[in-house]
Amino acid sequence: MALKKAEAILSALGLDRAEELLFHLPRRYEDRGCWIDPGTCAEGDALTVAGEIVRTKLSRWGARRCSFDAWLQPEGRLGEVRLSWFNMPYIKTNYPEGRRVIAHGTVKLTKGEVRLFHPEVEPWDDGEEARIHVDRIVPIYPLVEGVGQKALRRLVYETISDWKGFPDDPLVGTGAEVADRTWAFRQVHFPDSWETLKAARHRMVFEELFVLQTVLACRRRRSMEVVRRRSEVVGELVERWRAGLPFELTAAQVRVCAEIDADLGRARPMNRLLQGDVGSGKTAVAVHAMLRALERGEAAAFLAPTETLAQQQAGVLRRWLEPLGVRVELWTRTSKPGDAGLFAGVPTVHVGTHALLEEGVDLGRLGLAVIDEQHKFGVLQRGALLAKGEHPDLLVMTATPIPRTLCLAFYGDLDVSVLDGVPAGRGRVKTAVRTREQLPKVWEFMKGELAAGRQAFVVFPVIDVSEKADLKALGSGAEELKGIFGAEAVRILHGRMGSEEKEAVMADFRAGRFGVLAATSVIEVGVDVPNATLMVVENAERFGLAALHQLRGRVGRGAATSYCVLVMGEEGAGRERLEVMERTGDGFVVAEEDFRLRGPGDVLGTAQSGLPPLAVADLLRDGEVLAAAKQRAEVVVAADPELRSHPELRRRVERWLEGGALRAT
Ligand code: ADP
Ligand code: MG
Repeated sequence: MALKKAEAILSALGLDRAEELLFHLPRRYEDRGCWIDPGTCAEGDALTVAGEIVRTKLSRWGARRCSFDAWLQPEGRLGEVRLSWFNMPYIKTNYPEGRRVIAHGTVKLTKGEVRLFHPEVEPWDDGEEARIHVDRIVPIYPLVEGVGQKALRRLVYETISDWKGFPDDPLVGTGAEVADRTWAFRQVHFPDSWETLKAARHRMVFEELFVLQTVLACRRRRSMEVVRRRSEVVGELVERWRAGLPFELTAAQVRVCAEIDADLGRARPMNRLLQGDVGSGKTAVAVHAMLRALERGEAAAFLAPTETLAQQQAGVLRRWLEPLGVRVELWTRTSKPGDAGLFAGVPTVHVGTHALLEEGVDLGRLGLAVIDEQHKFGVLQRGALLAKGEHPDLLVMTATPIPRTLCLAFYGDLDVSVLDGVPAGRGRVKTAVRTREQLPKVWEFMKGELAAGRQAFVVFPVIDVSEKADLKALGSGAEELKGIFGAEAVRILHGRMGSEEKEAVMADFRAGRFGVLAATSVIEVGVDVPNATLMVVENAERFGLAALHQLRGRVGRGAATSYCVLVMGEEGAGRERLEVMERTGDGFVVAEEDFRLRGPGDVLGTAQSGLPPLAVADLLRDGEVLAAAKQRAEVVVAADPELRSHPELRRRVERWLEGGALRAT
């Protein structure tokens, strides 16, 4: 290929060197091997035939319209194949009688004839081109504007032909039983067969997951080597707090608190992930852990993803802890505590949003950091919070259950506790999927709930009407609700409001001063109003299942039966997904289904784990490879923690965070 053209393709793909093309992997493959007999194929089959053109015909109708047909006699096969092109008379010169070609296309059967319309055709004698585009399993690449599939495929082919192979292999000497790296890259672009493609892909997936697992194994090892100097216990706050609680901790809460106490008895810092469905009572567990820090004369921090949530948690903590003589400081964009020096020596819990992480925020002797709804944060923020202390203990909490495979893949460096079940005395939540036409009935039902003194949420996907006019917007939706329930009964809440305004609305809602809170998904996490029994979500198909589960968790917090109504924007929109919500109230089942239906990227992304996205591995399909890679990585790191005898692997591990496993060659 001409150098200029090659350069144009590379620059369109944003690549500097041709070898980077090796990492531009096919999106899928097409079987264009000449292994089917035209006589046996059916309408719609993909067919590739090699043979000689035995007859041609050019027919014209009127001035511009014409068709050109060429009949191909496949070699060693029965039956003819008719190739047809419309309005391309010049093509005639390409395919004279007697020319040997390979044609590929989708079969149409007309009057007993096997026909290919506008097929892809390559000369057959000129072996090279034919070997690239047809007569083989052909790679189909993801394209960018201005680059044709064939040109790109040809450039990859040429690059691979000139390529000497990788100088190193990070898997050498690790005992992994996989195919050679260079061979795998060649096969993944131009496979000899489906079997070799499978072996090649396996090699690449294994490598990617193995490097990732080595990163995690190293991280974990390092965190185990840290020695945390724990101060002497000087108080008995936990006991006093438990004695004053209006409820008994559930068995699950007691168990997880014991797991935390065991962590806190060790020399290394705690590194624990607490998974518990919405309403399972994670806050109480966090309080237990925080009080343990305070008992040693250290401070604790509680990081929340939104201002509303930080304020709410500060409220809860003040109610529980101030009677014990604990100060609760709130750090948000608008609220900064007074001079910390004044309260030196007073046990303190710092609650806040990202404002907690800012430079200059002094959290005293930080002994424990809690991150609530951790999927809203990245690993950088985790690091920033930990940096406020000297190897403080860490408790991250999530209400979005993480499917087992993902947990294994991304949280291999954390210990995991599961808070199963919800505290007794909770009402059930019934979930129903409804169409917009059925809304009047929903509003009727809502009137009944309001009349019984209960409250309701109505969630909208957007604040204002956008170009996507079929989305219900909060602004107009709230007006509609006011028309139905009265202006006094409805107030709105969304992320663009000032925090004081938001807090005022939430406080009024909590106090029951109005019945309907129309909001965006800012209320998705954590908001706790036990008297709210109805959650209506407009354009529910626009939300991920995990988000819907969170929203549903906003009701059912009191003893009364609650209801969650998921309204489809249009009949049938995402009904299958939404019906998962009708079937189960179990957050783990919801997460597994979401994972299955949408893939891991949408459930959690890899961003929250601080790791780059996977390039080849697909955790839905590659769970077994993952387990094998993890096991192998642990063996390698245990035997050689510094990876001294694996320089290439070490380089990759160090680079991982910059660019992704495969790209970092
Ligand atoms: P989440 O796990 O979603 O963060 P919260 O910690 O906000 O749940 O708890 C939800 C509600 O349950 C709160 O009102 C909390 O006070 C209450 N709660 C927590 N533990 C118990 C318990 N053991 N018994 C009864 N209610 C509890
Ligand atoms: Mg919570």
